[in-house]
Amino acid sequence: MTQRITILGATGSIGSSTVDVILAHWERFKVVAVVGGRNAQALADTARRLGAEFAALSEPSAGPDLKAALSGSGIASGAGETAVREAAERQADVIVAAIAGAAGLSATYAALQPGRRIALANKEALVSAGDLFMRTAQRTGAAIVPVDSEHNALAQALGAGRIEDVVAMILTASGGPFRTWSRERMAAATPSQASAHPVWSMGAKINIDSASLMNKGLELIEAHHLFGVRPDQLEVLVHPQSIVHGLVQWCDGAVTAGLAAPDMRIPIANSLGEGNRLPVPAQRLDLAAIGSLTFEPPDEARFPCLSLARQALERGGAMLTVLNAANEVAVEAFIEGRIGFLDIPRIVQKACEIAVSRDRGPPSSIEEAIALDLEARRLAREHLPGLAFAAP
Ligand code: NAD
Ligand code: MG
Repeated sequence: MTQRITILGATGSIGSSTVDVILAHWERFKVVAVVGGRNAQALADTARRLGAEFAALSEPSAGPDLKAALSGSGIASGAGETAVREAAERQADVIVAAIAGAAGLSATYAALQPGRRIALANKEALVSAGDLFMRTAQRTGAAIVPVDSEHNALAQALGAGRIEDVVAMILTASGGPFRTWSRERMAAATPSQASAHPVWSMGAKINIDSASLMNKGLELIEAHHLFGVRPDQLEVLVHPQSIVHGLVQWCDGAVTAGLAAPDMRIPIANSLGEGNRLPVPAQRLDLAAIGSLTFEPPDEARFPCLSLARQALERGGAMLTVLNAANEVAVEAFIEGRIGFLDIPRIVQKACEIAVSRDRGPPSSIEEAIALDLEARRLAREHLPGLAFAAP
C-alpha cells in the first residue's frame, strides 16, 4: 500500500537523507508536502524531484520566489506560519519531523494527528515540551518513532524483552571533535573546528551540540520521554567509532545492542518501514575492516553541558524548555563568533539558575510552550554581552 508522506525540514541534512530513502523506494511512497526554512530554490528542487503536492517555506518573504521556482510544475506552494501548519496538517500517513530546534515546535505538534506515524528527528521539540508531546500523542493515537540513531537502535533493542525488565539504557556518543581536547584548548575553539565532526555529516546546530556533548544531554531527555524510563536508568558511553548506537541492559545480565554504520538513512528507513525492513543503498557494516570498537566514560568536567542536561532532566518542568532555549541562543551566538565555546555551558547554566528561582511547571499547551521558549531566549540573550569573550 502506498504511504502518504510529508517531510518537515526537507532541505536539511535529515531531509536530504529522507529524500534518498524515498527515491530508493519510489513505489512505496506518495509525497504530500515538503517544508523548508527560507531557501526557495532548494525546496522547489526537492518538491519537483519528489512530485510533492504542496511546498511551504517558513519565511513569509520567500513566498514569491518559491512560487516562481515551482511555476509550471503544478505544485501548490505557500509561505509563513500558516502555510507550514497547513503542510503539517495535510492528510498523510507518515510525517518526518526534521526541522532543527524549537523552530519545529509548532509544526511538529500540528503533525500529531490521529493514527499517524511521526518519524521524529526534531529532538528539541521533545526536550522543550516532552510531557505535552507524549500526552498529546497518547490522546490522538499518533505513534512517535525515533529517527535519532541512538533512540532508533534502542527502540529496536527493546524488542528483545519487556520494558519492566530493563535495568539501564545506554546511549553512545562519538565524543565529537573535542573528545581529547583540554579545556584551555576548547576555550579558543573556532566554529569551524567545532563543526568538523569526526564521523557524522549534519546540520550546523547539531554539529555544535555534538562538540559540547549537549547533543547527548538532549538525547537523554529525549530517551526519557520516548521510552518512559527514569533518569537514573539512562547512561552515556563514549564510543568514537559510532557503530554501536544504543544498548539495553536487562535484569538477567544480558545486553541487547543496536549496531549500524553511521549513516542516517539506516534509522530513517527503519522509522518509515512500519515494521518492514527497507533496503538502504548504503555499504554493509564490515566489522572486520573496522577491527576494534572502543568505549570510554564521558568526562563531565570537560563537557559540563552533559551534567546541565542531566540536572534539568532530574528537575523537569519548565527547566527543560529553558535548557533547550538557552542552548539554542548560545550555539547561535557561538556560530556567529560572538562568544567562546565554553561560554555555551555558562549561558545555559545561568538561564537554568534563573529558572530554578522561578520554579515553573512544564508547559501545558503548545502556545504556552512557545511562549516559554521565547521568554527563555530573551533571558539567555540578556546574559550574552557579559559573557562575550569571557576568559576560560
Ligand atoms: P539542518 O539544519 O540541516 O536542517 C533543518 C531543516 O529545517 C532545513 O530544511 C531548514 O530549511 C528547515 N527549517 C529551519 N527553520 C525552519 C522553520 N522555522 N520552519 C520550517 N523549517 C525550518 O538540520 P538537521 O541536521 O537535518 O537536523 C534536523 C533535526 O534532526 C534536528 O532536530 C537534529 O537534532 C535532528 N537530528 C539530526 C541528525 C543528523 O545527522 N543531521 C541526527 C539525529 C538527529
Ligand atoms: Mg543522535
